[in-house]
Amino acid sequence: MVSVQLIKVTKKFGNVIAVNNVDLEIPDGKFTAILGPSGGGKTTLLYLIAGIYKPTKGRILFDGRDVTHLKPNERNIGLVFQNYALYPHMKVYDNISFPLRLARKPKSYIDKKVKEVARMLQIHHLLDRYPGQLSGGQQQRVALARALVKEPSVLLMDEPLSNLDAMLRLRIRSELKRLQRDLGITAIYVTHDQSEALAMADKIVVINNGVIQQEGPPNEVYRKPRNVFVATFIGSPPANVFPAKVDLTEEPCVILSSGKFCPRGILAERLRRLGKDTVLVGFRPEDAMLRDKPGHNGIVMEGEVYTVEPLGREVIVTVRVDGSLLKVLAPPSTAERVGKTVYLSIPRDKVMLFDPDTEENLAFID
Ligand code: ATP
Repeated sequence: MVSVQLIKVTKKFGNVIAVNNVDLEIPDGKFTAILGPSGGGKTTLLYLIAGIYKPTKGRILFDGRDVTHLKPNERNIGLVFQNYALYPHMKVYDNISFPLRLARKPKSYIDKKVKEVARMLQIHHLLDRYPGQLSGGQQQRVALARALVKEPSVLLMDEPLSNLDAMLRLRIRSELKRLQRDLGITAIYVTHDQSEALAMADKIVVINNGVIQQEGPPNEVYRKPRNVFVATFIGSPPANVFPAKVDLTEEPCVILSSGKFCPRGILAERLRRLGKDTVLVGFRPEDAMLRDKPGHNGIVMEGEVYTVEPLGREVIVTVRVDGSLLKVLAPPSTAERVGKTVYLSIPRDKVMLFDPDTEENLAFID
């Protein structure tokens, strides 16, 4: 187990800057998720850590030791790819033992290690089969076993669950989390699935356009998004964000079609300092309540029910407020009808305000 540090790392492919001047600390023995949309730079970041790509600029350290110019096999890492990349002509036993044979370990040691890791991942009864004779979930475990058999100090995973069906993904994700915890290994996990990152990681690193947008524990990234990108990438449904006018003539207030919202404290100060006549207002779907009558606290907006989506445990109600469609998570007993007039009520401490140009959250800028 080691910590990983990236110092001002940039990776260019021709004119494309896939990873742009990234500073990052991956903690020792923890589960870190690299989360972002397609093309955001996740895989490039992982391959830089693995040593498959060399940085165009910057340095990579493992436990303080510069590994920037070391090859993948000199870094003591285990890699699991999205498509597993198992050798089809080799039995499971030979697939798992491959890295140890490459390292010319004694036969008895190899046999002991393969059986140990196969038992841990509950594939010991499959050692005699070929990959083609396994289910997707079993192949995934074999790939994981092959990565773990060398006892790597860092386990790198690139969307390892994306080829599995939804049920299996849920099961394996909790097993993987438990396994990482039991082994105490430093794990780095690339995913575009925000729910996977929230569920599994000790630390989430959100990346877009090759730039880190935010890093922190799942709860912090969820509750305190630093910008509109993070707020609307994380959460299901994600945060609602819509533009509104600002009145700065007296105390700074956000003008809404039905009334106004005047923030207090630091948020009021920052809205005044921003000095712009519009702002982006945001809130999470679970933080709003639907009422039949207007309330007084926080933000209250009148709207019309646009769609109702019952999901069993909760109901997603989409409400049209002025030009925006806003989503609210309501309890299963909700009996809203399409076309009905409702009032959205968002408590004051759940309202987020973003700079309309930089899209940064006013609560977290200096
Ligand atoms: P996905 O989820 O689709 O795999 P990603 O977040 O992993 O996306 P990367 O594969 O890291 O994204 O790609 C980041 C950017 O770098 C993209 O614009 C991509 O087109 C570009 N890129 C990646 N690899 C290469 C390459 N070998 N040559 C040229 N451009 C590349």
